[in-house]
Amino acid sequence: MGTEVERNANPISSSTDEDLKELEADYAKLREETEQLIIERTELDSELRTVRKKVERLEENVNLLKMPPLIIGHLQDVLDHERAIVRSSNGTVFQVSLNQRLDPEKMKPGTRVALNQDTLSVIEILHEAWDPMVSGAEMVEKPEITYDEVAGLSEQVESVREAIELPLVKPELFAKVGITPPKGVLLVGPPGCGKTLLAKAVANHTDATFIRMVGSELAQKYIGEGGRMVRELFSLAKEKAPSIIFLDEIDAIGAKRLDGSTSGDREVQRTLMQLLAELDGFDALNDVKIIAATNRPDILDDALLRPGRFDRVIDIPLPDDESREEILKVHLENINTKKVQLRRVVEKTQGYSGAELKATCVEAGMIAIRDGRSVVVHSDLMAAVTRLDKKRSQGSQNSSPEALYS
Ligand code: ATP
Repeated sequence: MGTEVERNANPISSSTDEDLKELEADYAKLREETEQLIIERTELDSELRTVRKKVERLEENVNLLKMPPLIIGHLQDVLDHERAIVRSSNGTVFQVSLNQRLDPEKMKPGTRVALNQDTLSVIEILHEAWDPMVSGAEMVEKPEITYDEVAGLSEQVESVREAIELPLVKPELFAKVGITPPKGVLLVGPPGCGKTLLAKAVANHTDATFIRMVGSELAQKYIGEGGRMVRELFSLAKEKAPSIIFLDEIDAIGAKRLDGSTSGDREVQRTLMQLLAELDGFDALNDVKIIAATNRPDILDDALLRPGRFDRVIDIPLPDDESREEILKVHLENINTKKVQLRRVVEKTQGYSGAELKATCVEAGMIAIRDGRSVVVHSDLMAAVTRLDKKRSQGSQNSSPEALYS
């Protein structure tokens, strides 16, 4: 009896096995395709964010272009909270009115100010060491970021320290051995993974002034303007030395040179030529270092990567499991948490950038507050991940990475 049943059962089970194998093969193929699609989507997302940032900046530029020019002058005396005496840049002295929005604390004789062209009233207070030529640069005497805050990038931190910190702190080592240290490094990787953070940490550790300039700000369309800005940027860096120039989005001026380009493109190329000339013109042993960053290394002009320029390229990739855990630890350090299963959060945040991990922690805190608690629990983090996932998928349609913090 038993053998009869087995004989009948065999054909059924072998066909089920085959079906199962086929299904497994289909599943593996689908998974492979999905992974490929995810990679492509991440790349497209990153490209979209960059383009969006550029659009925002161009819109700002257009608004700026519509504004009438301001005259530069110096305060000679502040008469009361409404009136002051200023000397304009051509030497004439006027009594003018003050913009009531301005901080009276900062209104001291000698302060550099911007004046309205018609009424000469004081519109803006200019930073003391701020050269109007180097508009768009951000300068911090000593950034507050330390290496401990840069998580999951220990190898990269080592490389940057070796290339930037060591020549600044111990130039004699290089002189003794007789080698020339690199003038700068190029950080390459997707947005929000810690490029700016790393550059600030080096500046902090070397007590160097940190000067950040975004490439698209230099990509001026006016003849000679971009080149002049690059020159001013380097002379400001030399004046403030030891200093680190952080040139973000270098691809905006460092893209491959093409034939038959427009006059605007040619001007951008002239800016690049000026940058190359500045790079070649200063001594690698002096105390100005350059850290450039891009998420489009593929379009960079080879001239930038030649020896003596950015010959050291450091990859700052999306964080892997271990790095995500470290980044989460950094951002959860000051948050009151209870029974958080970090590994589970790590698993759920595959493909997240450092900035997105930070946003997850902030979001979890917000969820706890909304719930009337002062402690973040595991479910808050999981809910934050779900929210971030949603924003990430919307992000590819209509939001910038900064919006993730909202
Ligand atoms: P972009 O190309 O858009 O300028 P970026 O790579 O320079 O991006 P950062 O500005 O350094 O990114 O990172 C944004 C924020 O994300 C940081 O201020 C920090 O809070 C968080 N972050 C990113 N990477 C890390 C990291 N490795 N460790 C800790 N925090 C990180």
